Amino acid sequence: MTETERAPLTVHVPLDGGRDYDILIGRGLLASAGARVAALGARAAVIVTDETVAALYGDRVRESLEAAGLRSGVIAVAPGEASKSYATYAAVSDGLLAHRVERNDLVVALGGGVVGDLAGFAAATLRRGVRFVQAPTTLLAQVDSSVGGKTGINSPLGKNLIGAFHQPRLVLADTAALDTLTQREMRAGYAEVAKYGLIGDAGFFAWCEANWRGLFAGGPERDEAVAICCRAKAAVVVRDEREDGERALLNLGHTFGHALERLTGYDSGRLVHGEGVAIGLSLAFRFSARLGLCPGQEAGRVANHLALAGLPTRLQQVPGGCGDAEAILDAMAQDKKVRDGALTFILARGIGKSFIAPGIDRAEVRAFLDDELR
Ligand code: NAD
Ligand code: MG
Repeated sequence: MTETERAPLTVHVPLDGGRDYDILIGRGLLASAGARVAALGARAAVIVTDETVAALYGDRVRESLEAAGLRSGVIAVAPGEASKSYATYAAVSDGLLAHRVERNDLVVALGGGVVGDLAGFAAATLRRGVRFVQAPTTLLAQVDSSVGGKTGINSPLGKNLIGAFHQPRLVLADTAALDTLTQREMRAGYAEVAKYGLIGDAGFFAWCEANWRGLFAGGPERDEAVAICCRAKAAVVVRDEREDGERALLNLGHTFGHALERLTGYDSGRLVHGEGVAIGLSLAFRFSARLGLCPGQEAGRVANHLALAGLPTRLQQVPGGCGDAEAILDAMAQDKKVRDGALTFILARGIGKSFIAPGIDRAEVRAFLDDELR
């Protein structure tokens, strides 16, 4: 039996202005990418990927595109966050022009969130905007970065500071591609999966507690989880595309998490994004419990589950340490979500009951972090 025999799961993202699109989720989808991309109508579809993913899946996707009658090509950047740079963005943009990508053609972002953000931003600005397809190959990219239209690169002054909203025309999430992911990247993506349950779906968090092993093993649970997460993200994006309100809930665990990433250095390998998020989720729930908002038992349940899946949940687990409370607070204050010096947190009244809490007192956070570090 070939892997493509099972019909993919579909999540529709009903954005207005003809910008609606489908997210297809299933094992083996990359091998049939060509026909699905060709159905969008284009003469060329050029793949932007990283060298690791190119070696694993580049030929498969290119051959499928060419078999469907599309002129194709591959632009492969170095793997890693450092490729979300001005220099790589320029190289990718010029590469797409050299491949003669015209207004009606397509860019195919094949890879993790780095490639999706970089290729999406190049597509957004090439010839004032060409269409693009997301073919996410990490769990994080399948449940988070490939959906919602945020694209961009980093400035030396901060992460994701240069970017554009540019929605993909199609998302192809081949869940079999995750079989080659390292356990560490798989776990990191899983922190974002669990996050959706914690934000607004206690039933899904309970489902995760019961089914996470099947997701890691590549059973049907994996497709189901990716679909549930995409549905949750799509619903938020459709209600608040530009993050004027509710979309901020997706940052649960990220205020603490980003600070830890900043303190350890983004490409140092000490902490990957999802590990920072796992600690951040645990801290957000313990902080909520400390403020009397959330039962302590629920905060314990969150950390227990993440730890069972192999994720860090405490500041002490940051490799090489993360400095003191003041250092963490300073790193948080650099976050672009901080307005007028007041800290905005996403807190929770319980599992699945998160809310936006603006104006959190710095001293309160400091006392909490001091206790956490003790
Ligand atoms: P990544 O793209 O760097 O991928 C992680 C590593 O896995 C890379 O080394 C890559 O080469 C490798 N890889 C990818 N697919 C593989 C596969 N199938 N098999 C083996 N190896 C594979 O990192 P990521 O975690 O996917 O994404 C992180 C980025 O996503 C960050 O830059 C972050 O800012 C961004 N992001 C964007 C959004 C958004 O809404 N646009 C949301 C969340 C995160
Ligand atoms: Mg994240």
